[in-house]
Amino acid sequence: MSAQPILQLQGLGKRYGDTAVFANVDLSVYAGEFVAIVGESGVGKSTLLNCMAGLDSWSSGSVTLDGTDLAQLNDDQRALLRREKVGFVFQAFHVLPHLDVAQNIALPLMLLGRSDPARIDALLDAVGLAGLGARLPQQLSGGQNQRVAIARALVHQPRLLLADEPTGNLDPGTARRVMDSLIAQAREHGTALVLVTHSEAAAARADRVLQLCADGIV
Ligand code: ADP
Ligand code: MG
Repeated sequence: MSAQPILQLQGLGKRYGDTAVFANVDLSVYAGEFVAIVGESGVGKSTLLNCMAGLDSWSSGSVTLDGTDLAQLNDDQRALLRREKVGFVFQAFHVLPHLDVAQNIALPLMLLGRSDPARIDALLDAVGLAGLGARLPQQLSGGQNQRVAIARALVHQPRLLLADEPTGNLDPGTARRVMDSLIAQAREHGTALVLVTHSEAAAARADRVLQLCADGIV
């Protein structure tokens, strides 16, 4: 492929003291691709995802995001790049309880000094939450809150969407609908999607499924 990858990991390794979590992770993810990462509990999937976003440090190798080597940036520059280029969906939603649904979704735009009420409405509609913008998170179900988190992760049209077991807390039917929203929204905008999942059904929908183990990714 000739285009530049949105995300490139080269020889990435993570250690805590003498204990290696993973080593030699090489991965290139291109615009519009959907990559699933699977692996045993504790193998370092969440750590790897955090490294991709520059939220965690690594011990060896490099992370390049949309052509920028994250090691060349200071903390502020890295945070700015992340806000612009990356969306993140966590297993435990992380919606802010005192903000209403529309405010939660608008948060990444606000951090970039932007405002776009029409986009919030369009996203509410797209993830099946039309008319619920003024509700507080506690007035929504788990599946609805995870769709708030998905809308929030996509509101600023990131190049890369990272999702860490986003359906891990949901029943199978709800999980499927949440995955539908996630995949449809990523595909619509050509956003590269990296999904960590234990769900075989979710992984089966990816373009590529990679297994993380201690000595690399295959
Ligand atoms: P996964 O998401 O695949 O379940 P994690 O990325 O959460 O795995 O964790 C990877 C490994 O890193 C785990 O074995 C965990 O014990 C270890 N780990 C995480 N934080 C620390 C730390 N501060 N010190 C030492 N080991 C840690
Ligand atoms: Mg994890």
